[in-house]
Amino acid sequence: MTFKAEYIWIDGTEPTAKLRSKTKILGDDAKGAELPLWGFDGSSTNQAEGRTSDCVLRPVFSCPDPIRGGDDILVLCEVLDITLAPHPSNTRTALAEAAERFAAQEPVFGIEQEYTFFDGSRPLGFPEGGFPAPQGGYYCGVGADEIFGREIVEEHLDNCLTAGLGISGINAEVMPGQWEFQVGPLSPLQVADQLWVARWLLYRTAEGHGISATLDPKPVKGDWNGAGAHTNFSTRAMREGPEGYAAIITACEALGEGSRPMDHVKSYGAGIDDRLTGLHETAPWDAYSYGVGDRGASVRIPWQVERDGKGYIEDRRPNANVDPYVVTRLLIDTCCTALEKAGQV
Ligand code: ADP
Ligand code: MN
Ligand code: MN
Ligand code: MN
Repeated sequence: MTFKAEYIWIDGTEPTAKLRSKTKILGDDAKGAELPLWGFDGSSTNQAEGRTSDCVLRPVFSCPDPIRGGDDILVLCEVLDITLAPHPSNTRTALAEAAERFAAQEPVFGIEQEYTFFDGSRPLGFPEGGFPAPQGGYYCGVGADEIFGREIVEEHLDNCLTAGLGISGINAEVMPGQWEFQVGPLSPLQVADQLWVARWLLYRTAEGHGISATLDPKPVKGDWNGAGAHTNFSTRAMREGPEGYAAIITACEALGEGSRPMDHVKSYGAGIDDRLTGLHETAPWDAYSYGVGDRGASVRIPWQVERDGKGYIEDRRPNANVDPYVVTRLLIDTCCTALEKAGQV
């Protein structure tokens, strides 16, 4: 019996890459074996010129396909050139190197992915030619006057669970039609690979309902919350007492040093200055701060973490459209380097 493998990859669209996928039919002999390399036309994905258009897909993560079911699978790939070197659009390679370098610190991530459903050109739940009642009642709400798209959200959650992804929760967000799911806690490559697959499943699940989902960080201008991807991070030293809290402070301080705030923010997703305004539960993009329980800070230390003297930190700056391979690499580079220097490993 043949089965279907949906090969998924990240394209070269600027400034924010898009997901692409196509289907490969594999034979029985492919079951349990290493999945084959494949190729695509990079001139159609902003990854090559027309005359040398071949790009290579190398499988890096696979899981059951919850939509097709049976023996069918989803296959996340990284993009290589025809010499099998990483393509310039491939941000996974650099994360793999950083994760390897700091593996002994056991970095762990949980990413909160916010997104917005659209029905045509309107956010789901927005009345034709106008606005719904102002923000206030929608976050974690219940009822048809507050909640839009729950059937899609539930289906997406079930699809992620059937696929075996490390999804850890969902909630309705502050703007109508806006939702969140969380992936993690997982290792750097696991959280990033699985977040990309969960995003693909989100688009694919919503597509079945004639609805689109977007990671636009500011889908509605004005007095409406943007969409972020809060990135929760810890190392073993931060998770374990009694020196855990000191390691947490080292990490928070390192993120504020010299050019670090700008180095991070400029790679935290296109349009970040539209979202990090200092309003709507954000800190201004050009002023770094951290604090306990402070949802107006760049980096929040959850209150239980201060109480317990150990745990994790939440970088609240990344946009919904951030590349998880990039945000995890930057956090590892900055924080694990500082922890190593301070001997807090
Ligand atoms: P918020 O209160 O900010 O909305 P959420 O419950 O949505 O928080 O998300 C918290 C995230 O933190 C989850 O994805 C969870 O997996 C992650 N998390 C919990 N503990 C750790 C840890 N020790 N290290 C990294 N991430 C963690
Ligand atoms: Mn959350
Ligand atoms: Mn949220
Ligand atoms: Mn959060």
